[in-house]
Amino acid sequence: MKKQWTMLVPLSMLVGGCGLSEAGIAPEYEDITEEVVVEEEVEEVVDEEVKEESPKEDTTTDESSQETEPTDQEKTIEVQKPLYRINEANWTVAPIEEGTPEQVYLLTIDDAPDKHGLQMAQTLHELDVPAIFFVNGRFLRSEEQAQTLKQIHELGFEIGNHTISHASLQDLSEAEQREEIISVSDRIEEITGERPRFFRAPFGQNTDVSKAIVAEEGMTYMNWTYGYDWEAEYQNASALTDIMVNTPLLTNGANLLTHDRAWTAKALQGIVEGLATKGFAPVDPDLIDSSPTEEAER
Ligand SMILES: [Zn+2]
Repeated sequence: MKKQWTMLVPLSMLVGGCGLSEAGIAPEYEDITEEVVVEEEVEEVVDEEVKEESPKEDTTTDESSQETEPTDQEKTIEVQKPLYRINEANWTVAPIEEGTPEQVYLLTIDDAPDKHGLQMAQTLHELDVPAIFFVNGRFLRSEEQAQTLKQIHELGFEIGNHTISHASLQDLSEAEQREEIISVSDRIEEITGERPRFFRAPFGQNTDVSKAIVAEEGMTYMNWTYGYDWEAEYQNASALTDIMVNTPLLTNGANLLTHDRAWTAKALQGIVEGLATKGFAPVDPDLIDSSPTEEAER
C-alpha cells in the first residue's frame, strides 16, 4: 500500500504541474524540472529493490527483459522484501531484522465481507491504515458480494482466507477441510486476481490437516493476540475503542482481531487514533512474510 503511494504521489505531482502550466501560473521551466526529478526517483526505487531481491542476476539481460516485464509500479510491489514475520508463539508480527520498527500492530477484520466490510475498508483507507480482511466463502456467492470484495481489494487491502462456512475444522473430514480452504482461495483469486497469502482458522482451531493444506497452498496461518468485539459488554463503539487501546494485552507487534460488525465499524477510527497516541503504527501486510508456516518452529 505504501509502495503504491510512493509511485502515485510523483505521478499526481506531474499532473498538477501540467495543470499549473496550462493555466499560465507556473513558468514552463519549472514544469520540466519537476518531470526530471520524478523520473529519477522512480528509477532509483526500482533499481534498489531489484538488486536486493536478485543480487546474482545477470545484469546484461536487464535491458531486453525490461520490455516484457510488468510496469514499474507492479515490479516494485512484487520485489518488496518482507520486513516482518508471524511469531507462532503469540501470533504477533515480529521484525525479521534488527532496526525494523517494533512498536507496530496488525489490524485484521474477520467474517467479511458481510454488512459493514466495505464501509470499514473505506474508513481505514481514509485513515491510511492497512489491514487484512479474512473472508468467508459464504459471503462471496452472489455477484453483488463479489463486487464488494473486489472494491475492498481495490482499496488496497490484503484479502485472507477464513474458510467457506466458518465451521470448526476439527469436526470435518480431510476432504471437507480441503474444500473449506481451497475453494475459498479459488473464489478470491477469481474475484481479485490474486490468491490469498494468509489463512485464519475459524475459532483459531488449526488441525494437522488444515496446516498441511495451508502449507501446500503456500499460505501462512495466524491466530491473533487479542480481540473483544464478540463479547456482549464490548458490543458498543465506546467500550470497544477503550478496551482495544487500553488492554494490558497490547504489546509490540500485537495482532488485533476485529469483525465485520456495526459497533466495530464505528469504533475503528477511535481505535486507530488511540493506538497512534500510544505510539503504535499499523503494519502493512505487504511487509509480512507469507511463506508457509514451518512446523519445526512450533
Ligand atoms: Zn471468524
